[in-house]
Amino acid sequence: MATIYITRERAAGERRVATVPAAVTKLTRTGLEVVVEPAAGAAAGIDDDAYVEAGARLAQDGDLAEAAVVARVAPPTLEEVGDLAPGTVLLTFAAPHRNLDVVAALAEAQVTTVAMELVPRISRAQSMDALSSQANIAGYRAVITAAYELDKYFPLFMTAAGTIKPASLVVLGAGVAGLQAVATGKRLGAVVKVSDIREAAKQEVASLGGTFIDVPSDEDLTGEGGYAKEAGEDFLTRQRRVLTEHLSVAHAAITTAQIPGRPAPTLLTTEMVEAMPRGAVVIDLAAADGGNCELTDPDRVVEHAGVRIIPGQGLPSEMPREASAMYANNIAAFLGLLAADGAITVDTDDEVVAGALLTHEGEVVHERTASLLEGEAT
Ligand code: NAD
Repeated sequence: MATIYITRERAAGERRVATVPAAVTKLTRTGLEVVVEPAAGAAAGIDDDAYVEAGARLAQDGDLAEAAVVARVAPPTLEEVGDLAPGTVLLTFAAPHRNLDVVAALAEAQVTTVAMELVPRISRAQSMDALSSQANIAGYRAVITAAYELDKYFPLFMTAAGTIKPASLVVLGAGVAGLQAVATGKRLGAVVKVSDIREAAKQEVASLGGTFIDVPSDEDLTGEGGYAKEAGEDFLTRQRRVLTEHLSVAHAAITTAQIPGRPAPTLLTTEMVEAMPRGAVVIDLAAADGGNCELTDPDRVVEHAGVRIIPGQGLPSEMPREASAMYANNIAAFLGLLAADGAITVDTDDEVVAGALLTHEGEVVHERTASLLEGEAT
């Protein structure tokens, strides 16, 4: 019987797992047997027994090389690619632009890789949109982290002993994570100001009660698929000037600005951090892609001029049970496109499958990654 193998994550700090017991029947509905590596759910608080009770089997030696499909969260290492047999279909976050050697190895190993971050953002694929499911958690958790780290109240308090002013929160980037941060910040009572470069973001921010920070631009920087285009240096300079005013009175900043497949834009320079009040915190959700703040270090909290800059790429992993449950549903929904009655078909005429494919039949089929590998793109 063909199997789907659920890997135990080994990346530092990764507590999520690619399926949870509640999603096992969604996977078996495709006719595949679910095989779970022992302790795969341990870091998310899920026992092996719970998977078995849900209908999965615990893996033994040799199961990985026999699997038709392998599902995981973090990109594999080169060594882990070596454990996959030719023809395996791998479902994973791949961060291709940061892992070119791994992508090349996957193609070489004849692995068909579905990169979950490449799933097209179209209505039919909403249930498979792992970027959104995880960004939602990151946006929420970023605000909770900022509120915890801050030495002041978020909400306005009027008491007999005096009035406490609400915290001022600046959110940079109003995509899925940013909008969740706005909503969460508002619920906690902060004054929330937001910057984005897409026209559509203005309306979305306003509907959540945030104030949009306008940076005049001659062009709408909305690119393909509703994503942002890379803003020019001239725009970024003007944006930094306008932002400095707001940051100089901000207690917390949450930065989420990303351009798919490229380094994150620098929105907060060292000078801007120095303009922030002492005790302020910056949570940088773009830390893995170079960060939106010049001072961000993805591996540690940096303190500069009394401001703490906290890398936020690991925030979904801090809520591993729910992050895994949502990712598991994304994986199960995608598997529904690939597997039926226990047989796997990679239908490259399906725009969702084609859009998410990174490697297939020995080739790197995602154009931008292929160009990066050939040294033709920057
Ligand atoms: P993202 O993670 O790629 O980027 C986050 C935000 O940063 C974006 O809003 C982007 O405009 C912004 N940004 C980029 N450069 C910036 C700069 N210099 N200054 C300020 N902000 C900057 O975005 P995302 O959360 O993945 O969402 C991208 C788009 O996709 C959004 O329009 C979102 O609504 C849309 N989306 C659609 C669907 C769907 O239809 N199924 C699902 C999810 C997201």
